[in-house]
Amino acid sequence: MNSRYNPRWDLESIFPGGSESAELQNYISVLETDLQQLSQQVKGFPLPEEPEDVAYMESMISLLEKVSKQVGEVSAFVSCLTAEDVHDYKAKLLVGKRSELSAAYAANLTILDRKFVQIDSDVWNGLLQQPTLSPFSFILDERRRKAMDKLPVEQEILLNDLAVDGYHAWGEMYDAIVAKMGIDWEEDGKKERLSIGQAANLLSSSNRNERKSAFDKLEKAWLEQTDLFSETINHLAGFRLQTYKHRHWENVLKEPVQYNRMSEKTLNAMWEAISNNKTPFVSYLKRKAELLGLEKLSWFDLDAPVGENNKTIDYDDAARIIIEQFSRFSTGMAEFAQMAFDERWIEAENRPGKRPGGFCTSFPVSQETRIFMTYSGTPSNVATLAHELGHGYHQFVMNDIEILNQDYAMNVAETASTFAEMIVADAAVKNAETKEEKISLLDDKIQRSVAFFMNIHARFLFETQFYEERKKGLVSAERLNQLMKKAQKDAYCNALYGYDPTFWASKLHFHITDVPFYNFPYTFGYLFSLGIYADALETEQGFEDKYVALLRDTGRMTVEELAKKHLDVHLDRMEFWEKAIQLCRDDVEEFLKLTER
Ligand SMILES: [Zn+2]
Repeated sequence: MNSRYNPRWDLESIFPGGSESAELQNYISVLETDLQQLSQQVKGFPLPEEPEDVAYMESMISLLEKVSKQVGEVSAFVSCLTAEDVHDYKAKLLVGKRSELSAAYAANLTILDRKFVQIDSDVWNGLLQQPTLSPFSFILDERRRKAMDKLPVEQEILLNDLAVDGYHAWGEMYDAIVAKMGIDWEEDGKKERLSIGQAANLLSSSNRNERKSAFDKLEKAWLEQTDLFSETINHLAGFRLQTYKHRHWENVLKEPVQYNRMSEKTLNAMWEAISNNKTPFVSYLKRKAELLGLEKLSWFDLDAPVGENNKTIDYDDAARIIIEQFSRFSTGMAEFAQMAFDERWIEAENRPGKRPGGFCTSFPVSQETRIFMTYSGTPSNVATLAHELGHGYHQFVMNDIEILNQDYAMNVAETASTFAEMIVADAAVKNAETKEEKISLLDDKIQRSVAFFMNIHARFLFETQFYEERKKGLVSAERLNQLMKKAQKDAYCNALYGYDPTFWASKLHFHITDVPFYNFPYTFGYLFSLGIYADALETEQGFEDKYVALLRDTGRMTVEELAKKHLDVHLDRMEFWEKAIQLCRDDVEEFLKLTER
């Protein structure tokens, strides 16, 4: 039988000729001219003195819109080129070009922020009420408020310059040490040196000895370096705390919470709901231990597979399943997926030379998206495909919105993708052909819940405690191990036999400089999406319109406003979160029933 869908994407329709595209070069030249024009406009922006002084700002914003789209178009194309062929030398050169363009664009925003701060507050509020500016009022006001919260401009510039070597460099140092690490591994009499990433993959092996041996070797490797990693983590945190002190920010959660456009009350309500609902997950861990013939699970047993599922699904079938399951919730989603398969917006071919992982990127000018992954027919590949199509659909429904209003935060970024993935994962469980297959699929789902409710909770507890102690001085490697173990014990309700005390060293997230507390937005996104899914399961009619309206607003309001407006719920109360968690509890209940002896 001929396959119906081509698993290779079409990039020619965007810029013909790949990394040697003349059209792309022309496009970049035009963009560079536009960037210069934008820079002149921004620098010459006269501070408005009356709320009616909108003309200049209007034209500047429309130029910002235009240039932002163009930068996005080039950026997406370069991402696609570097992903489809890691050996494409010309594409690598374009990555440098892309950084240059993005930096030039970002510099304009920094200058603008400075000017916004200088505008009189009454004039500012009046400006935002003008019909042409009011659609941007949320994002403009957010920029101004954030800038006002910081130090005077000159000091922030100095801070940024010093951060290159005094802050970001610690993150780079971390990467440099990890890149040199590895473990010696022997399999079938063959000795080899595994990278840390390769070794970590062995932790999901079905062979316990293999898991244990990999874990022990990894633990030893990390332990040997904890003296260095305690330097990186302490100095990263130290730089942040100093910065906060000078800005008079007393709470370490201020930055991450603001970044995610949410309140701390919401964050607390979420964790409290999770903490109150851990008992079923402890029962799951206990059952999983029994199934593996153990009294209690160790850290390295958490990802061990349960049940058997060797089913492979070919690409055409995956497409059919996804479109069919999407259509049960939303015609729009199904039509979008159909179009993505038909128009070759997806690169799924299993061939060498591709970058690992998956992503979805959008072309704001062409108003198209492209999805990248390597499809080899496993159930988790189908889930990834659905996940990325969810991202694509999110973008698709936002296409006609101003691009400045499309920028959503990390915690809602995964809403549409998790929702899409959930639809397909649930259908797979429902339609499983054997009990073993069903158990395996359910275990996959529950493992994710455990990761969001326990593993990420442990990271949050650790980070909170670590910052408290760091305020008083350096925290030793030994103490960091203790703090991590304590956090894991608390988050997993003492359900495990052994823990992973050096996790603070092995988890990259603790050493990146984007934002601190990088982890909780994942749990937020997962549960937020599940809350919507719970709502979808209850809504007989009109869900689709409500869902699309919610997605369209993700870039222009706080998450509390978003949830109130579209779901009529309060995120800073526990009810919403508990309802979402209930769906995960249902999975556990079914798993326990199926695995009863
Ligand atoms: Zn995603």
